[in-house]
Amino acid sequence: MAVIDRIDTLAPIREKVEANERLDFEDGLTLMESDDLLGLGELADLARRVRGGNDEVYFIQNFYLNQTNVCRVKCKFCAFSMTRKEPAAYTLTADQLVEDALQQYERSGFTEIHIVNGESPHVTFDWYVETTCKLHEALPDVHLKLYTASEIHHMSKLAGATHEDVLRELKAAGLGSLPGGGAEIFADRVRQLIAPGKEPAEEWFHVHDTAHRLGIPTHCTMLYGHVESYEERIDHLLRLRDQQDATGGFLAFIPLAFHPENTVFERRGWRHTAGSEDLKVLAVSRLLLDNVPNIKAYWIMMGMPLAAVALHFGANDVQGTVVREEIFHAAGATTETEQKVDELVRFVKAAGRIPVQRDTLYNEIRRW
Ligand code: SF4
Repeated sequence: MAVIDRIDTLAPIREKVEANERLDFEDGLTLMESDDLLGLGELADLARRVRGGNDEVYFIQNFYLNQTNVCRVKCKFCAFSMTRKEPAAYTLTADQLVEDALQQYERSGFTEIHIVNGESPHVTFDWYVETTCKLHEALPDVHLKLYTASEIHHMSKLAGATHEDVLRELKAAGLGSLPGGGAEIFADRVRQLIAPGKEPAEEWFHVHDTAHRLGIPTHCTMLYGHVESYEERIDHLLRLRDQQDATGGFLAFIPLAFHPENTVFERRGWRHTAGSEDLKVLAVSRLLLDNVPNIKAYWIMMGMPLAAVALHFGANDVQGTVVREEIFHAAGATTETEQKVDELVRFVKAAGRIPVQRDTLYNEIRRW
């Protein structure tokens, strides 16, 4: 059946990929509906190579921090956020955060700090600016990849300012780039079901559009494997592609599988996605996002063995050493929270690829 499916449905798409032609919505749907997993992987790998990709696989030495888990939004898929009164709620000062970062820097010498937070109504915009400023002063050579578009939007509400004002001030304080969170699925229907308190997709795009125009590169994501349809996944990817056509500031796309543990969806008996679904989403993302250079296999979510397989499904980046991850682990991820450089190198080599340590902007630091 798989062979027949591949001949019947993937063959016209393969012709387009070989000719480096852009795939459309219907092609995306055909890919998503295909059961020919190996065929999808082969096509995605072909697309990566046709567009100039080689055997290099990137990773970064980075450090994840969360400054507060207090959040007003209450997304239904989130196991991380709390109200201020819950015993495990925390909000750190800029000085506490810097102290933590400095201690960790002594240990692992990362080149990037990645911070995302809950959207606490109990802080001010100055708290974010002070944090950015103090981190930059303490670690001037470390790239600061801070705050999702949702958080930037939250800051604009706290400060009564525009997205542009917020981004300009953070950039002046030392912000280097934005992570890609908060995208979830862009379709209104899905946002209403899983994150009714979150701003509409248009605000997410406005933040990224503004950042790119200010020379701040960003990342983009898709949280899949909950209530979204295949059509809504394809719509999400094509909206990202349109934005990239307009401003070109996305460094990488990261598909994120939904983890239901400790959320309302766990009580409804939901399970997280199968590895085959994760590989399919990666492959389709690579095929549709012809203008985003890097597609990440996020090992925190899928585990390193599957991330290594994903390198044959269009991925060319395995994220990084990470060191400490709370958000997916609150939702039941059972992967390690830290991956040592030599382990990452070993996995990438075992997949037949060349490990390249990069900085946030994809400049090479070292290769093996
Ligand atoms: S996903 Fe983010 S915005 Fe939504 S509840 Fe969790 S911390 Fe808050």
